[in-house]
Amino acid sequence: MYQLIVFGPPGVGKGTQAELIAKKLGLSHISTGEILRKAVSDGTELGIKAKAIMDIGNLVPDEIMNGIVKEALAGSSENGFILDGYPRTVEQARALTYTFSELNMGEVTVINLIADDEEITQRLLKRGRTDDTRETIANRLKVYYKSTEPVKQFYTELGIVKDIYGVGDVDEISKLLLEELH
Ligand code: ADP
Repeated sequence: MYQLIVFGPPGVGKGTQAELIAKKLGLSHISTGEILRKAVSDGTELGIKAKAIMDIGNLVPDEIMNGIVKEALAGSSENGFILDGYPRTVEQARALTYTFSELNMGEVTVINLIADDEEITQRLLKRGRTDDTRETIANRLKVYYKSTEPVKQFYTELGIVKDIYGVGDVDEISKLLLEELH
């Protein structure tokens, strides 16, 4: 049973690593970005609201995200889950702690992926998603440092963070990551 959070700035490779680890360990990959993008393409009420926010690189309100994640966790695999893109604010981290206790879930491990701003900006520009324009990327980084980075401190104080350097060969990084979990 694995209960994992993959953490780090936009473009650091959270999605790529989370997908690999989820496949390898048979975990539910819960990507809030993917869930929101699906809502956008399905044209749901959530999608319409989220699109305007995502396009400028701001954060979707905490109450909405907390509800989405609680539902996904409740339906996750018995092998466990890997959360990707959540929590993104200290408020979300607090809500997650509460959700864990409501769902009788135990300890989590936080995988903190590291790369510098220049590297991630170049990667995002190459990826070219609709929210990967220079302007939106700059705002996402700003939002990351202001609202999301403090989440790392929140978990560091609990002693559950494992740092992984996220630059290099994708499979090598994934191998390092798995070693950290055993
Ligand atoms: P990246 O990690 O590359 O920035 P994501 O796919 O995780 O991209 O997220 C894309 C966008 O979706 C974010 O910029 C934000 O607007 C929204 N989003 C995703 N997860 C959350 C969350 N936990 N809280 C608020 N907004 C979120």
